[in-house]
Amino acid sequence: VQGFEGQTVAVLGMGRSGLAAAAALQEGGAQVVVWDDGPAGRDAAAAAGYDLRDMTTTQSFDGVTALIVSPGIPHLYPAPNPAIAAAWDAGVPVDNDIGLFFRSFATADWDRFDVTPRVVAVTGSNGKSTTAALIHHILIENGRPSQLAGNIGRGVLDIDPAHDGEVIVLELSSYQTDLARALTPDLAVLTNLSPDHLDRHAGLGGYFAAKRRLFAEGGPDRALIGVDEAEGQYLANQLIEGADDDRVIRLSSGRKLDGPGWSVFARKGFLSEYRKGRQVGSIDLRPILGLPGAHNHQNACAAYGACRALGLGPKGIEAAMKSYPGLPHRSQLVVERDGVRFINDSKATNVDSTAKALQAFSKIRWICGGLQKDGGLDGLLPHLDHVVKAYVIGREAEAFARQLAGADAEICTTMDVAVARAQADAKPGEVVLLAPAAASFDQYDSFEKRGDDFINCVMNATS
Ligand code: ADP
Repeated sequence: VQGFEGQTVAVLGMGRSGLAAAAALQEGGAQVVVWDDGPAGRDAAAAAGYDLRDMTTTQSFDGVTALIVSPGIPHLYPAPNPAIAAAWDAGVPVDNDIGLFFRSFATADWDRFDVTPRVVAVTGSNGKSTTAALIHHILIENGRPSQLAGNIGRGVLDIDPAHDGEVIVLELSSYQTDLARALTPDLAVLTNLSPDHLDRHAGLGGYFAAKRRLFAEGGPDRALIGVDEAEGQYLANQLIEGADDDRVIRLSSGRKLDGPGWSVFARKGFLSEYRKGRQVGSIDLRPILGLPGAHNHQNACAAYGACRALGLGPKGIEAAMKSYPGLPHRSQLVVERDGVRFINDSKATNVDSTAKALQAFSKIRWICGGLQKDGGLDGLLPHLDHVVKAYVIGREAEAFARQLAGADAEICTTMDVAVARAQADAKPGEVVLLAPAAASFDQYDSFEKRGDDFINCVMNATS
Protein backbone atom coordinates (compact mmCIF):
# COMPACT_ATOMS: atom_id res chain seq x y z
CA VAL A 1 0.00 0.00 0.00
CA GLN A 2 1.42 3.34 -1.06
CA GLY A 3 0.79 6.80 0.36
CA PHE A 4 2.30 6.20 3.80
CA GLU A 5 6.00 6.16 2.96
CA GLY A 6 8.12 7.26 5.91
CA GLN A 7 5.02 7.65 8.11
CA THR A 8 4.08 5.68 11.18
CA VAL A 9 0.88 3.63 10.85
CA ALA A 10 -0.67 1.67 13.73
CA VAL A 11 -2.39 -1.68 13.16
CA LEU A 12 -4.79 -3.06 15.78
CA GLY A 13 -5.63 -6.78 15.80
CA MET A 14 -3.10 -9.32 14.61
CA GLY A 15 -5.35 -11.85 12.91
CA ARG A 16 -5.19 -12.61 9.21
CA SER A 17 -6.29 -9.20 7.95
CA GLY A 18 -4.18 -7.28 10.49
CA LEU A 19 -1.03 -9.19 9.59
CA ALA A 20 -1.72 -8.68 5.87
CA ALA A 21 -2.31 -4.94 6.43
CA ALA A 22 0.92 -4.59 8.42
CA ALA A 23 2.87 -6.39 5.69
CA ALA A 24 1.32 -4.31 2.88
CA LEU A 25 2.00 -1.05 4.72
CA GLN A 26 5.58 -2.03 5.43
CA GLU A 27 6.06 -3.01 1.80
CA GLY A 28 4.98 0.51 0.87
CA GLY A 29 7.66 2.03 3.13
CA ALA A 30 5.55 2.80 6.22
CA GLN A 31 6.85 2.39 9.72
CA VAL A 32 4.40 -0.06 11.29
CA VAL A 33 3.53 -0.43 14.98
CA VAL A 34 1.03 -3.07 16.06
CA TRP A 35 -1.11 -4.12 19.02
CA ASP A 36 -3.48 -6.90 19.96
CA ASP A 37 -5.51 -7.23 23.16
CA GLY A 38 -4.73 -10.94 23.38
CA PRO A 39 -1.43 -12.73 23.96
CA ALA A 40 -1.88 -14.98 20.90
CA GLY A 41 -2.11 -11.96 18.60
CA ARG A 42 0.88 -10.33 20.28
CA ASP A 43 2.91 -13.54 19.86
CA ALA A 44 1.99 -13.70 16.16
CA ALA A 45 3.08 -10.07 15.74
CA ALA A 46 6.36 -10.59 17.57
CA ALA A 47 7.07 -13.71 15.53
CA ALA A 48 6.53 -11.69 12.35
CA GLY A 49 9.01 -9.09 13.64
CA TYR A 50 6.65 -6.14 14.20
CA ASP A 51 7.12 -3.47 16.88
CA LEU A 52 4.49 -3.89 19.58
CA ARG A 53 3.02 -0.76 21.12
CA ASP A 54 0.32 -0.63 23.79
CA MET A 55 -2.21 1.72 22.19
CA THR A 56 -4.54 2.40 25.06
CA THR A 57 -3.36 5.95 25.79
CA THR A 58 -3.62 9.08 23.66
CA GLN A 59 0.16 9.49 23.91
CA SER A 60 0.70 6.14 22.24
CA PHE A 61 -0.61 7.78 19.03
CA ASP A 62 2.00 10.56 19.01
CA GLY A 63 3.39 10.76 15.49
CA VAL A 64 0.94 8.14 14.15
CA THR A 65 -0.77 8.93 10.80
CA ALA A 66 -3.60 6.37 10.89
CA LEU A 67 -4.96 3.43 12.86
CA ILE A 68 -5.94 0.34 10.86
CA VAL A 69 -8.43 -1.86 12.72
CA SER A 70 -9.36 -5.53 12.19
CA PRO A 71 -13.04 -6.26 11.51
CA GLY A 72 -13.51 -8.38 14.65
CA ILE A 73 -12.82 -5.43 16.96
CA PRO A 74 -15.85 -3.34 18.02
CA HIS A 75 -15.45 0.40 17.50
CA LEU A 76 -18.78 1.73 18.70
CA TYR A 77 -21.11 -0.81 20.28
CA PRO A 78 -21.44 -2.38 22.76
CA ALA A 79 -18.38 -0.25 23.72
CA PRO A 80 -15.41 1.01 21.73
CA ASN A 81 -12.16 -0.84 22.10
CA PRO A 82 -9.86 1.31 24.30
CA ALA A 83 -7.24 1.68 21.57
CA ILE A 84 -9.85 2.98 19.11
CA ALA A 85 -11.16 5.42 21.71
CA ALA A 86 -7.59 6.62 22.31
CA ALA A 87 -7.08 7.16 18.55
CA TRP A 88 -10.25 9.27 18.44
CA ASP A 89 -8.97 11.35 21.37
CA ALA A 90 -5.66 11.80 19.60
CA GLY A 91 -7.38 12.88 16.35
CA VAL A 92 -5.91 9.98 14.40
CA PRO A 93 -8.03 8.71 11.46
CA VAL A 94 -9.32 5.17 11.94
CA ASP A 95 -9.61 2.93 8.86
CA ASN A 96 -9.41 -0.75 7.94
CA ASP A 97 -7.88 -2.96 5.26
CA ILE A 98 -10.88 -2.47 2.97
CA GLY A 99 -10.41 1.31 3.15
CA LEU A 100 -6.71 0.90 2.35
CA PHE A 101 -7.58 -1.33 -0.60
CA PHE A 102 -10.02 1.13 -2.19
CA ARG A 103 -7.79 4.09 -1.41
CA SER A 104 -4.92 2.41 -3.24
CA PHE A 105 -7.21 1.92 -6.18
CA ALA A 106 -8.56 5.44 -6.26
CA THR A 107 -5.09 6.93 -6.25
CA ALA A 108 -3.87 4.27 -8.71
CA ASP A 109 -0.63 4.11 -6.81
CA TRP A 110 -0.56 0.47 -5.90
CA ASP A 111 2.30 -1.09 -7.79
CA ARG A 112 0.66 -4.52 -7.71
CA PHE A 113 -1.75 -3.30 -10.35
CA ASP A 114 -0.58 -2.07 -13.69
CA VAL A 115 -4.09 -2.53 -15.01
CA THR A 116 -7.24 -1.45 -13.23
CA PRO A 117 -9.49 -4.39 -12.46
CA ARG A 118 -13.20 -3.97 -11.95
CA VAL A 119 -14.32 -4.52 -8.41
CA VAL A 120 -17.56 -6.23 -7.40
CA ALA A 121 -18.52 -5.96 -3.71
CA VAL A 122 -21.16 -8.26 -2.21
CA THR A 123 -22.86 -7.59 1.11
CA GLY A 124 -26.14 -8.63 2.81
CA SER A 125 -27.22 -10.58 5.87
CA ASN A 126 -27.12 -13.99 4.24
CA GLY A 127 -25.83 -15.41 0.99
CA LYS A 128 -22.77 -13.16 0.72
CA SER A 129 -20.22 -15.98 0.47
CA THR A 130 -22.37 -18.05 -1.85
CA THR A 131 -23.11 -15.11 -4.15
CA ALA A 132 -19.48 -13.94 -4.22
CA ALA A 133 -18.15 -17.46 -4.84
CA LEU A 134 -20.77 -18.03 -7.55
CA ILE A 135 -19.90 -14.78 -9.38
CA HIS A 136 -16.23 -15.75 -9.24
CA HIS A 137 -16.98 -19.24 -10.54
CA ILE A 138 -19.14 -17.96 -13.43
CA LEU A 139 -16.46 -15.46 -14.47
CA ILE A 140 -13.68 -18.06 -14.45
CA GLU A 141 -15.80 -20.57 -16.38
CA ASN A 142 -16.46 -17.88 -18.99
CA GLY A 143 -12.78 -17.13 -19.42
CA ARG A 144 -12.76 -13.88 -17.43
CA PRO A 145 -9.89 -13.72 -14.92
CA SER A 146 -11.22 -13.16 -11.39
CA GLN A 147 -9.97 -13.12 -7.81
CA LEU A 148 -12.14 -13.73 -4.76
CA ALA A 149 -11.28 -11.99 -1.47
CA GLY A 150 -12.62 -10.11 1.55
CA ASN A 151 -14.63 -11.85 4.24
CA ILE A 152 -14.26 -15.14 2.38
CA GLY A 153 -10.88 -16.48 3.29
CA ARG A 154 -8.38 -14.25 1.59
CA GLY A 155 -7.59 -10.73 2.84
CA VAL A 156 -8.04 -7.89 0.33
CA LEU A 157 -4.42 -6.92 0.80
CA ASP A 158 -3.30 -10.44 -0.10
CA ILE A 159 -4.62 -10.49 -3.66
CA ASP A 160 -2.28 -11.09 -6.58
CA PRO A 161 -1.30 -8.59 -9.27
CA ALA A 162 -4.24 -8.07 -11.59
CA HIS A 163 -4.42 -9.16 -15.22
CA ASP A 164 -5.95 -7.29 -18.08
CA GLY A 165 -9.74 -7.48 -17.91
CA GLU A 166 -9.65 -8.92 -14.40
CA VAL A 167 -12.51 -8.71 -11.94
CA ILE A 168 -11.98 -8.68 -8.19
CA VAL A 169 -14.96 -10.08 -6.29
CA LEU A 170 -15.12 -9.02 -2.64
CA GLU A 171 -17.39 -10.37 0.06
CA LEU A 172 -17.85 -7.61 2.63
CA SER A 173 -19.53 -7.93 6.04
CA SER A 174 -21.08 -5.06 7.96
CA TYR A 175 -18.04 -5.19 10.25
CA GLN A 176 -15.91 -4.28 7.24
CA THR A 177 -18.12 -1.72 5.50
CA ASP A 178 -18.78 0.41 8.55
CA LEU A 179 -15.18 1.48 9.22
CA ALA A 180 -13.71 1.66 5.71
CA ARG A 181 -12.92 5.27 4.79
CA ALA A 182 -13.05 4.49 1.08
CA LEU A 183 -15.65 2.17 -0.51
CA THR A 184 -15.82 2.56 -4.27
CA PRO A 185 -16.63 -0.72 -6.02
CA ASP A 186 -17.76 -0.64 -9.65
CA LEU A 187 -20.65 -2.97 -8.83
CA ALA A 188 -22.21 -3.38 -5.39
CA VAL A 189 -24.66 -6.11 -4.39
CA LEU A 190 -27.02 -6.23 -1.39
CA THR A 191 -28.47 -9.74 -1.23
CA ASN A 192 -31.01 -9.25 1.59
CA LEU A 193 -31.38 -7.79 5.06
CA SER A 194 -32.50 -9.49 8.27
CA PRO A 195 -31.56 -8.95 11.92
CA ASP A 196 -28.00 -10.04 12.74
CA HIS A 197 -25.08 -8.67 14.76
CA LEU A 198 -27.48 -6.33 16.51
CA ASP A 199 -25.27 -5.86 19.57
CA ARG A 200 -22.39 -4.70 17.40
CA HIS A 201 -24.51 -2.17 15.48
CA ALA A 202 -26.96 -1.16 18.23
CA GLY A 203 -29.98 -2.51 16.38
CA LEU A 204 -31.22 -3.04 12.85
CA GLY A 205 -30.93 0.64 11.91
CA GLY A 206 -27.22 0.72 12.65
CA TYR A 207 -26.71 -2.58 10.88
CA PHE A 208 -28.48 -1.33 7.75
CA ALA A 209 -26.52 1.93 7.92
CA ALA A 210 -23.24 -0.05 7.91
CA LYS A 211 -24.29 -2.01 4.81
CA ARG A 212 -25.65 1.07 3.04
CA ARG A 213 -22.25 2.74 3.07
CA LEU A 214 -21.39 0.59 0.07
CA PHE A 215 -24.04 2.44 -1.94
CA ALA A 216 -23.21 5.96 -0.81
CA GLU A 217 -23.05 8.79 -3.30
CA GLY A 218 -20.05 8.49 -5.57
CA GLY A 219 -20.21 4.74 -4.92
CA PRO A 220 -20.88 2.01 -7.46
CA ASP A 221 -21.62 2.50 -11.15
CA ARG A 222 -24.14 -0.23 -10.79
CA ALA A 223 -26.13 -1.39 -7.75
CA LEU A 224 -27.84 -4.79 -7.47
CA ILE A 225 -30.32 -4.75 -4.65
CA GLY A 226 -32.55 -7.42 -3.14
CA VAL A 227 -35.91 -5.72 -2.72
CA ASP A 228 -37.73 -8.39 -0.72
CA GLU A 229 -37.34 -6.29 2.44
CA ALA A 230 -38.44 -2.69 2.91
CA GLU A 231 -34.84 -1.60 3.50
CA GLY A 232 -33.78 -2.90 0.08
CA GLN A 233 -36.77 -1.27 -1.63
CA TYR A 234 -35.97 2.02 0.03
CA LEU A 235 -32.31 1.85 -0.95
CA ALA A 236 -33.10 0.95 -4.58
CA ASN A 237 -35.56 3.80 -4.76
CA GLN A 238 -33.04 6.26 -3.40
CA LEU A 239 -30.50 5.34 -6.06
CA ILE A 240 -32.82 5.24 -9.01
CA GLU A 241 -33.10 8.37 -11.20
CA GLY A 242 -36.23 7.31 -13.06
CA ALA A 243 -38.14 4.31 -14.32
CA ASP A 244 -35.68 3.63 -17.18
CA ASP A 245 -32.53 3.98 -15.12
CA ASP A 246 -30.46 0.83 -15.59
CA ARG A 247 -27.92 1.77 -12.93
CA VAL A 248 -30.00 -0.23 -10.45
CA ILE A 249 -30.80 -3.92 -10.96
CA ARG A 250 -33.57 -5.02 -8.59
CA LEU A 251 -33.53 -8.60 -7.32
CA SER A 252 -36.28 -10.70 -5.80
CA SER A 253 -36.91 -14.22 -4.66
CA GLY A 254 -40.62 -14.83 -5.07
CA ARG A 255 -41.86 -11.57 -6.55
CA LYS A 256 -42.38 -10.88 -10.26
CA LEU A 257 -40.53 -7.66 -11.15
CA ASP A 258 -41.62 -7.10 -14.75
CA GLY A 259 -42.09 -3.33 -14.75
CA PRO A 260 -39.72 -0.78 -16.32
CA GLY A 261 -36.04 -0.76 -15.38
CA TRP A 262 -33.80 -3.79 -15.03
CA SER A 263 -34.59 -6.73 -12.76
CA VAL A 264 -33.77 -10.35 -12.06
CA PHE A 265 -36.08 -12.53 -10.00
CA ALA A 266 -36.73 -16.19 -9.21
CA ARG A 267 -40.14 -17.77 -8.86
CA LYS A 268 -40.99 -21.45 -8.50
CA GLY A 269 -37.46 -22.44 -9.48
CA PHE A 270 -37.23 -20.25 -12.59
CA LEU A 271 -34.95 -17.24 -12.90
CA SER A 272 -36.12 -14.40 -15.16
CA GLU A 273 -34.39 -11.26 -16.34
CA TYR A 274 -36.51 -8.28 -17.44
CA ARG A 275 -35.42 -5.03 -19.07
CA LYS A 276 -37.91 -2.27 -19.80
CA GLY A 277 -40.83 -4.62 -19.27
CA ARG A 278 -39.50 -7.30 -21.62
CA GLN A 279 -38.11 -10.68 -20.64
CA VAL A 280 -34.56 -10.97 -21.97
CA GLY A 281 -33.27 -14.07 -20.16
CA SER A 282 -34.42 -17.10 -18.17
CA ILE A 283 -32.92 -20.14 -16.46
CA ASP A 284 -34.53 -23.26 -14.99
CA LEU A 285 -32.72 -23.41 -11.64
CA ARG A 286 -34.36 -26.59 -10.41
CA PRO A 287 -31.85 -29.06 -11.89
CA ILE A 288 -28.85 -27.08 -10.61
CA LEU A 289 -27.59 -29.27 -7.77
CA GLY A 290 -25.10 -26.80 -6.30
CA LEU A 291 -27.86 -24.23 -5.60
CA PRO A 292 -30.71 -25.98 -3.73
CA GLY A 293 -33.64 -24.07 -2.20
CA ALA A 294 -35.27 -20.68 -2.69
CA HIS A 295 -32.52 -18.94 -0.73
CA ASN A 296 -29.93 -20.17 -3.21
CA HIS A 297 -32.16 -19.07 -6.06
CA GLN A 298 -31.95 -15.60 -4.55
CA ASN A 299 -28.15 -15.88 -4.61
CA ALA A 300 -28.33 -17.13 -8.20
CA CYS A 301 -30.31 -13.99 -9.18
CA ALA A 302 -27.71 -11.73 -7.59
CA ALA A 303 -24.81 -13.55 -9.28
CA TYR A 304 -26.64 -13.63 -12.62
CA GLY A 305 -27.34 -9.89 -12.44
CA ALA A 306 -23.75 -9.07 -11.54
CA CYS A 307 -22.38 -11.17 -14.41
CA ARG A 308 -24.86 -9.65 -16.89
CA ALA A 309 -23.72 -6.20 -15.76
CA LEU A 310 -20.16 -7.35 -16.43
CA GLY A 311 -21.14 -8.24 -19.99
CA LEU A 312 -21.69 -12.02 -19.92
CA GLY A 313 -24.58 -13.64 -21.80
CA PRO A 314 -27.39 -15.72 -20.20
CA LYS A 315 -26.27 -19.01 -21.81
CA GLY A 316 -22.70 -18.76 -20.54
CA ILE A 317 -23.95 -17.91 -17.06
CA GLU A 318 -26.37 -20.85 -17.03
CA ALA A 319 -23.71 -23.32 -18.14
CA ALA A 320 -21.34 -22.13 -15.40
CA MET A 321 -24.03 -22.32 -12.70
CA LYS A 322 -24.47 -25.99 -13.55
CA SER A 323 -20.87 -26.71 -12.59
CA TYR A 324 -20.91 -24.64 -9.37
CA PRO A 325 -19.63 -27.00 -6.68
CA GLY A 326 -21.12 -25.19 -3.63
CA LEU A 327 -19.28 -24.11 -0.49
CA PRO A 328 -18.56 -26.23 2.56
CA HIS A 329 -20.88 -25.70 5.56
CA ARG A 330 -23.67 -24.15 3.43
CA SER A 331 -26.36 -26.73 2.61
CA GLN A 332 -23.49 -29.17 2.01
CA LEU A 333 -24.45 -32.77 1.29
CA VAL A 334 -22.09 -34.85 3.46
CA VAL A 335 -23.35 -38.30 2.55
CA GLU A 336 -26.49 -40.19 1.65
CA ARG A 337 -26.70 -43.43 3.61
CA ASP A 338 -29.55 -45.94 3.76
CA GLY A 339 -31.78 -43.38 2.03
CA VAL A 340 -31.01 -40.67 4.62
CA ARG A 341 -29.28 -37.47 3.50
CA PHE A 342 -26.91 -35.78 5.98
CA ILE A 343 -26.65 -32.03 5.33
CA ASN A 344 -24.12 -29.67 6.92
CA ASP A 345 -25.42 -26.10 7.14
CA SER A 346 -23.22 -25.06 10.08
CA LYS A 347 -23.08 -21.55 8.57
CA ALA A 348 -26.76 -21.12 9.46
CA THR A 349 -25.85 -19.06 12.52
CA ASN A 350 -28.92 -16.81 12.59
CA VAL A 351 -32.67 -17.30 12.47
CA ASP A 352 -33.15 -16.18 8.86
CA SER A 353 -30.58 -18.51 7.32
CA THR A 354 -31.89 -21.39 9.45
CA ALA A 355 -35.48 -20.69 8.40
CA LYS A 356 -34.30 -20.89 4.78
CA ALA A 357 -32.64 -24.24 5.42
CA LEU A 358 -35.79 -25.61 7.09
CA GLN A 359 -37.82 -24.43 4.08
CA ALA A 360 -35.39 -25.99 1.60
CA PHE A 361 -35.80 -29.53 2.97
CA SER A 362 -38.60 -31.63 4.45
CA LYS A 363 -38.83 -34.56 6.91
CA ILE A 364 -35.95 -33.07 8.84
CA ARG A 365 -34.12 -34.53 11.84
CA TRP A 366 -32.84 -31.13 12.92
CA ILE A 367 -29.61 -30.60 14.88
CA CYS A 368 -29.71 -27.09 16.34
CA GLY A 369 -28.53 -24.95 19.26
CA GLY A 370 -25.40 -23.14 20.38
CA LEU A 371 -24.71 -19.58 21.42
CA GLN A 372 -27.98 -17.82 20.77
CA LYS A 373 -28.19 -14.41 19.10
CA ASP A 374 -30.50 -11.55 20.12
CA GLY A 375 -34.00 -11.58 18.75
CA GLY A 376 -35.25 -15.01 19.87
CA LEU A 377 -36.27 -18.01 17.81
CA ASP A 378 -39.84 -17.05 16.93
CA GLY A 379 -38.89 -16.68 13.26
CA LEU A 380 -38.37 -20.45 13.15
CA LEU A 381 -41.75 -21.48 14.51
CA PRO A 382 -43.62 -21.23 11.16
CA HIS A 383 -41.19 -23.75 9.64
CA LEU A 384 -41.35 -26.45 12.28
CA ASP A 385 -43.84 -28.41 10.18
CA HIS A 386 -40.83 -29.53 8.10
CA VAL A 387 -39.17 -30.89 11.24
CA VAL A 388 -39.79 -34.43 12.47
CA LYS A 389 -37.72 -33.89 15.61
CA ALA A 390 -35.09 -31.49 16.97
CA TYR A 391 -31.83 -32.67 18.57
CA VAL A 392 -30.53 -29.75 20.60
CA ILE A 393 -26.83 -29.12 21.23
CA GLY A 394 -24.96 -26.35 23.05
CA ARG A 395 -24.29 -25.32 26.60
CA GLU A 396 -27.75 -23.78 26.89
CA ALA A 397 -29.56 -26.60 25.12
CA GLU A 398 -32.51 -26.66 27.50
CA ALA A 399 -33.21 -22.95 27.24
CA PHE A 400 -32.92 -23.25 23.46
CA ALA A 401 -35.33 -26.20 23.30
CA ARG A 402 -37.91 -24.40 25.44
CA GLN A 403 -38.28 -21.74 22.75
CA LEU A 404 -39.18 -24.31 20.10
CA ALA A 405 -42.71 -24.51 21.37
CA GLY A 406 -44.59 -27.42 19.92
CA ALA A 407 -41.59 -29.22 18.44
CA ASP A 408 -40.54 -32.66 19.56
CA ALA A 409 -37.09 -31.81 20.97
CA GLU A 410 -34.44 -33.91 22.66
CA ILE A 411 -31.60 -32.41 24.72
CA CYS A 412 -28.37 -33.88 23.34
CA THR A 413 -25.86 -31.14 24.33
CA THR A 414 -22.97 -32.53 22.26
CA MET A 415 -22.67 -33.17 18.53
CA ASP A 416 -21.75 -36.85 18.82
CA VAL A 417 -24.88 -37.58 20.85
CA ALA A 418 -27.08 -35.54 18.51
CA VAL A 419 -25.77 -37.28 15.38
CA ALA A 420 -26.07 -40.74 16.96
CA ARG A 421 -29.64 -40.08 18.13
CA ALA A 422 -30.75 -38.51 14.83
CA GLN A 423 -29.21 -41.30 12.82
CA ALA A 424 -30.83 -44.00 14.97
CA ASP A 425 -34.26 -42.37 14.49
CA ALA A 426 -33.98 -41.46 10.79
CA LYS A 427 -36.01 -43.35 8.20
CA PRO A 428 -35.34 -43.53 4.45
CA GLY A 429 -36.37 -40.30 2.73
CA GLU A 430 -35.57 -38.19 5.77
CA VAL A 431 -32.82 -35.59 6.15
CA VAL A 432 -30.43 -35.13 9.08
CA LEU A 433 -29.71 -31.41 8.97
CA LEU A 434 -27.24 -29.39 11.03
CA ALA A 435 -28.62 -25.82 10.92
CA PRO A 436 -27.92 -24.44 14.40
CA ALA A 437 -29.67 -21.00 14.39
CA ALA A 438 -26.87 -19.97 16.74
CA ALA A 439 -23.22 -19.05 16.85
CA SER A 440 -20.74 -21.81 17.65
CA PHE A 441 -18.51 -20.13 20.22
CA ASP A 442 -19.96 -21.86 23.30
CA GLN A 443 -18.47 -25.16 22.08
CA TYR A 444 -16.26 -24.45 19.05
CA ASP A 445 -13.75 -21.89 17.77
CA SER A 446 -15.73 -21.32 14.60
CA PHE A 447 -18.70 -22.49 12.54
CA GLU A 448 -16.21 -24.35 10.33
CA LYS A 449 -14.97 -26.42 13.30
CA ARG A 450 -18.59 -27.16 14.25
CA GLY A 451 -19.37 -28.29 10.69
CA ASP A 452 -16.22 -30.43 10.57
CA ASP A 453 -17.23 -32.06 13.86
CA PHE A 454 -20.66 -32.85 12.38
CA ILE A 455 -19.02 -34.40 9.31
CA ASN A 456 -16.69 -36.48 11.49
CA CYS A 457 -19.52 -37.70 13.69
CA VAL A 458 -21.59 -38.58 10.60
CA MET A 459 -18.75 -40.41 8.90
CA ASN A 460 -17.76 -42.30 12.07
CA ALA A 461 -21.29 -43.29 13.01
CA THR A 462 -22.20 -46.81 12.04
CA SER A 463 -25.66 -47.53 10.85
P1 ADP B 1 -22.93 -15.20 4.35
O1 ADP B 1 -21.58 -15.14 3.74
O2 ADP B 1 -23.75 -13.95 4.11
O3 ADP B 1 -22.97 -15.64 5.77
P2 ADP B 1 -23.39 -17.78 3.08
O4 ADP B 1 -23.49 -17.91 1.62
O5 ADP B 1 -22.13 -18.20 3.74
O6 ADP B 1 -23.74 -16.28 3.48
O7 ADP B 1 -24.61 -18.54 3.75
C1 ADP B 1 -24.83 -18.41 5.15
C2 ADP B 1 -25.99 -19.24 5.61
O8 ADP B 1 -27.19 -18.70 5.09
C3 ADP B 1 -25.97 -20.68 5.16
O9 ADP B 1 -26.56 -21.42 6.18
C4 ADP B 1 -26.80 -20.70 3.91
O10 ADP B 1 -27.41 -21.96 3.68
C5 ADP B 1 -27.83 -19.61 4.20
N1 ADP B 1 -28.13 -18.80 3.03
C6 ADP B 1 -27.42 -18.72 1.89
N2 ADP B 1 -27.98 -17.84 1.05
C7 ADP B 1 -29.05 -17.32 1.69
C8 ADP B 1 -30.05 -16.34 1.35
N3 ADP B 1 -30.03 -15.74 0.17
N4 ADP B 1 -31.02 -16.08 2.27
C9 ADP B 1 -31.04 -16.70 3.45
N5 ADP B 1 -30.14 -17.63 3.82
C10 ADP B 1 -29.16 -17.94 2.96
